[in-house]
Order: sequence, then C-alpha cells, then structure tokens
Amino acid sequence: MLPEIEKLLQLQDQDRRIEQVESELAQVGPQRQAARRRLEAAQERAEALRKRLQEAATRRKGLELEADRHREQADRYAQQQLETRDNKAYQALGREIETCKAKISELEDRQLELIEEEENLEKALREAKAELGKVEAETAQALAALDKREKALEAQRTQLQAERGALTQSVPGPLLSRYERLRAGRGGRVVVGVDRRVCGGCHMKLPAQVVLSTRAGREVISCPNCGRILFYASHMQIDAASAGEAAS
Ligand SMILES: [Zn+2]
Repeated sequence: MLPEIEKLLQLQDQDRRIEQVESELAQVGPQRQAARRRLEAAQERAEALRKRLQEAATRRKGLELEADRHREQADRYAQQQLETRDNKAYQALGREIETCKAKISELEDRQLELIEEEENLEKALREAKAELGKVEAETAQALAALDKREKALEAQRTQLQAERGALTQSVPGPLLSRYERLRAGRGGRVVVGVDRRVCGGCHMKLPAQVVLSTRAGREVISCPNCGRILFYASHMQIDAASAGEAAS
C-alpha cells in the first residue's frame, strides 16, 4: 500500500473519532434541556395543586360567610316573630326561617364536600412535593454529570484535533486537499477499499485497469464513478475495516 494512502487511512480514522465525539457533544444540550423540562414539569404539578387547594379554601370560606348571613337573617326573622301579634305574619316569618335553614343545610353540605376535596388535594400536594424534591436532587445530579461529560468530551476533541493536525503534516498537500474536498462533499468514508472489483464507497464495479493500478500501488487512484480514493487490500483487511466502521 502507498505510504500516503496509509496516512490518509489513519487521518480518516481520526476524523471518524472526532465525528463520534462531536455527535456525543451535540447530544449534551438536548439532554440538559430534557432534565430541566422534567424538573419544570414537577414544579408545575406541585404549583397547580397548591393553587387548586387555595381556590377550594377560598370557596369554602365564601360558603361559610354565606351560611352566616342566612343564620343572621333567620335570627332576625325569629326576633320579628317574637315582636308580632299578627298570626299570618308570624306564620310567614316561620316559612322564611325554614327557607333559611334549608339554605344553611345545603351550604353546609357543600362545605363538607369541599373539606373532602381539600383533604384529597393536600394528600396529592404532599406527594407532588416529595416527588419534586426527588426530581430536584436527580436533576442537579444529572446536570452536574452532563457538565462533567461535556468538559471531558471537549478536552477529548481538543486532543483529537491536535493529533489530527500532526497527521495532516505527513500527507502531501494536494492529496490532503483532495481528501478534504471529498469529505466535505460526500462525508463519511472517502478512502475506500476495492473489494472483489467493486468500489467500497459506491459499490459500482470497477474497470479492470483501475483494479490493477490500485493493486500495483504506485500512484493514488480514484473511483471513476464516485471519485473516492481507492486502496487495495485483502478481503480480510477490508472486512476488518468494515467491522470497525460498523462498531463505531
Ligand atoms: Zn466509487
């Protein structure tokens, strides 16, 4: 194999490692957002329950006041009954008092319902607060782990890029430009093996002359179909290279 092709393959491996680190780095942001959204959701759940509880208490207070007003009204009617000498008026006041009592009884039933609702809400709120505490601790932990991971990946990328810089020094300029252009255009692997007379990149059958020239290894040969840089290796080497590709 041509020494410069060997260097290019090393460079290609290095670029694959850099891509891997970059794709892992790109996932950190969304993971951070997901952790924060989970915390916000737990906060919103607790807040919504707290509000409902407050509303139920306010409603109950309103019913209490309304019942008090009816009680006072009933007391006034009872007082008027004591003061009247008219039998009809007395009976009419008695009916008014009954109406007030019925109303008070209804308001008391509604208060009891609200007390039950508040008890249920209090229980739900306690649970939501416990869950929130748990989620807060987990979120803090997850965010700290993500920060750490991001820093480690950034350090790794810096290291890999420095190594890449050193590798590019050993590849002749025009070949390096060709490689960079191919990578920019096609992405992924652009230095590919010839496998059973087929280009390892585009999988088109190669002319015999191209296969022979690649095998001779005296100059850099490109696939006439896709333009990728070809190298000739035994099937075992190519299989190993593809296995490495699949694993990464
Ligand atoms: Zn090709």
